[in-house]
Amino acid sequence: MAAASLQPTTRPIESARLTDSHGRVIHDLRVSITDRCNYKCVYCRTGEAGPQYPELKIEEYLLLIEQFVKLGITKVRLTGGEPLLRRGLIEMVRELARLRTLDGEPLDLALTTNGHLLDSLAAPLKGAGLNRVTVSMDAVDEAVFERITRVPGSFKAVLAGVRAARAAGLTPLKINCVLLRGFNDDQVEGFARFAREEDVVVRFIEFMPLEEDRLWSPEIVVPLNEIVGRLNGDLQLVPMPAREASETARRYTFADGRGEIGIIAPVSQAFCGACSRVRLTSDGKIRTCLFSQVEHDLYGRLRAGESAENLRAYIVRTVRGKEARHHIGESGFLKPSRSMVHIGG
Ligand code: SAM
Repeated sequence: MAAASLQPTTRPIESARLTDSHGRVIHDLRVSITDRCNYKCVYCRTGEAGPQYPELKIEEYLLLIEQFVKLGITKVRLTGGEPLLRRGLIEMVRELARLRTLDGEPLDLALTTNGHLLDSLAAPLKGAGLNRVTVSMDAVDEAVFERITRVPGSFKAVLAGVRAARAAGLTPLKINCVLLRGFNDDQVEGFARFAREEDVVVRFIEFMPLEEDRLWSPEIVVPLNEIVGRLNGDLQLVPMPAREASETARRYTFADGRGEIGIIAPVSQAFCGACSRVRLTSDGKIRTCLFSQVEHDLYGRLRAGESAENLRAYIVRTVRGKEARHHIGESGFLKPSRSMVHIGG
């Protein structure tokens, strides 16, 4: 046997793929590139609070993201705040599209947006190398939609954005809808029709206690079982198999195979055991869970002049300490210090 094969198989810490102490492989990075937003959705914002955290330079995000990619991240999702507000976004996507995973593949590059500015930006984003977008839409009825966003004209702008994204090939195009009892839970059936007519994947997301205000209560959450029951009454839902273990949505199609609906149920059927995510906030802090009580100052280390190797070692140590699960709905649950818009959804 050759001498080389007798060498210990342990590799330097930063060349291993990111895993946490619960055995989960972390391959999905969400990066907030601003906490500014042009919408004031009633379940997310107070309507009075503005941005609260600084933004990094685009090249600083790129440098930090590159360290994650060297540690095995394969999927990067840009978010905010509203990422389409960020100057330099197209160039940023172009640079990200040049990065390669540890297996030599391009990154899976996605972006989450409210869609307001997507009509003009969809084609340039696709041209720069973006693969997919998820558009947040909480109603298919124009008046209900604008009551939620508190921005006149927002429904038409977002609908144009959705259609432009589909035409540009940013597909499969997902629409995320947060349902709140008494606000927009009458939109469920309309969204099922919308999914079929607009050829988009609609995903209902249970409302989590991550708002700027204090609105959340278990009663306001519309749980997965209720959504499935309602859709089954109108159209016949057919469950679809999961594509990967870390898939967050339960997926369904309809009896005729046209259209797709997903339900993401972090409250009633938490999927923390399969979580593959880590987040970077607009000011360069690592958050290992949406509900983390602590943040880890990666950017502070960059500013202090730490080497790329030391930054990677810090990321590895931080991800090891990822929380096992969240505690929504349990006594003693603590809301995180940042709300969704300031973390990056
Ligand atoms: N501005 C972009 C957008 O609208 O998609 C990205 C940021 S936004 C905070 C990301 C997503 O988080 C949106 O789909 C929004 O509906 C969702 N969201 C905000 N607050 C939430 C909450 N408390 N529970 C569940 N989802 C929430």
